[in-house]
Amino acid sequence: MTVTVDERRPLEDVEREFKLLIDGEWVAADSGETFSCVDPFTEEEWGRVPIASEADVDRAVRAARRAFDSDGWPQTSAAERAALLRRLAGLIEENVEPLTYRQIRENGKLLSEMLPGAGALAADCHFFAGLGETLHGMSVPVSAPNFVGYTVREPIGVVAAITPWNTPLGLLGWKLFPALAAGNTVVAKPSEVTPTSTLMLAELIVEAGFPPGVVNVVTGYGQPTGKALVGHPGVDKIAFTGSTSTGRAIAHAAAERNARVSLELGGKSPNVIFADADLDNAVNGVMAGVFAATGQTCLAGSRVLIESSAYDEVAALLAERAGKIRAGDPMEPETQLGPLASRAQLDKVVSYLELGKEEGLTLLAGGGRPDRRGFFVEPTVFGDVDNSARLAREEVFGPVVCLMRFEGEDEAVRIANDTPYGLAAGVWTENVRRAHRMVGRLRAGTVWVNNYRVLGHGLPFGGYKQSGQGREMGIEALQGYTEVKSVWIDTGNRVNFPVG
Ligand code: NAD
Repeated sequence: MTVTVDERRPLEDVEREFKLLIDGEWVAADSGETFSCVDPFTEEEWGRVPIASEADVDRAVRAARRAFDSDGWPQTSAAERAALLRRLAGLIEENVEPLTYRQIRENGKLLSEMLPGAGALAADCHFFAGLGETLHGMSVPVSAPNFVGYTVREPIGVVAAITPWNTPLGLLGWKLFPALAAGNTVVAKPSEVTPTSTLMLAELIVEAGFPPGVVNVVTGYGQPTGKALVGHPGVDKIAFTGSTSTGRAIAHAAAERNARVSLELGGKSPNVIFADADLDNAVNGVMAGVFAATGQTCLAGSRVLIESSAYDEVAALLAERAGKIRAGDPMEPETQLGPLASRAQLDKVVSYLELGKEEGLTLLAGGGRPDRRGFFVEPTVFGDVDNSARLAREEVFGPVVCLMRFEGEDEAVRIANDTPYGLAAGVWTENVRRAHRMVGRLRAGTVWVNNYRVLGHGLPFGGYKQSGQGREMGIEALQGYTEVKSVWIDTGNRVNFPVG
């Protein structure tokens, strides 16, 4: 891979025309149409990316189908697939910096977050390489006499992996690595905001030696590219991360042909602080939970529930610390808040700040845009918010947090669970009994106690309710890319079919 990396801001590929990866070849879109990439920090256009048409998507899916149906890839041994994934993990490790810089250029997330994220990508790849080798069915005692019964896990087929812009490579890896480890082939469709980091990873996939067609990448908007992929009869499973509304549309389309789906969608996650918590630590946890990544994370702890007796202290600390956050160049290690990823996201977050003011919410910090270049908004804290306010119910996907009061565990649980979402939750308490009670009562796919926003490939991640279905990471993710086959072997019976 030929990448020249500037010390701070890479200059590679600035005016490059990117290509699709179909059947092992780098190709332009059928129509020749392209769109531009914009750096959210400088607001400059810097590269052009193909808009894959229905015909391009069809070619990509056919390539993935051939690679699967020819029995090539699914028939390789788990050890062979693991070896390729390990080679890929090694290449990711060698290219952690360019992969990081490219993602920052695309979405403006902080170097301090994206550099460890690229390291985690390599670790995730190693993890699924190893886990794939352990994939097995079960020997099952059956009730009928003289039978041996067992199950085997087999790949599903062609997987469409559709990803958002906030963590482009991490969220692709969570789909790609288990899908490949289990023997599926893949067509990836990255967000139109962050397409080139996926193409960069695809270069490494080719270099690692994956056979043509096993991984294909089509770039473009939700329409026509994403829609064509989701509706393609050659796709057996759609693995999607993105907004709840797009997820719903995808689930509808998949239901037309009973294609498998896994959906990682939005959230409005509660962070519940009891008065007995280490309040200083809890305030830092709340800040990390909602202001990291400029609030552009599905699991943002955007509703902070505070026990009444601690409310004033916590609210004052949060307002004070939010006002001190250092916004700036995402490539500077000391920056704490970068820009939002796109002008569209900026407009959306600003409209929610206006809505908060229209709803009469008490503004404790921020609430506007700083006077500087780039898609920045101020870290914003609204106090004494009622859980029925739109700002408390809808996902903002920006650095905006709503504070609420509660009295006792029952009310905390009622407010926390009163949301259409169920992705994550945090509990802050020094009382171990209360911690376990709360974990059991919160309706969310992940619950942190005395921390927030910690993830790792061992534990599955996914949502209750409208936050999605299926799980990524952990053994659950690998199993989610398999069908289960039941096998009955008759060891001694005669088949009885009396005629006449
Ligand atoms: P989005 O739904 O607008 O787009 C996600 C992807 O879907 C993009 O690649 C887009 O091009 C594609 N797409 C859009 N319309 C499509 C269609 N009709 N058919 C097929 N593909 C289509 O989401 P976004 O704005 O990119 O990302 C932000 C959202 O993602 C937030 O709601 C956030 O909560 C969610 N998210 C969830 C998780 C999670 O793990 N639960 C993680 C990150 C982000």
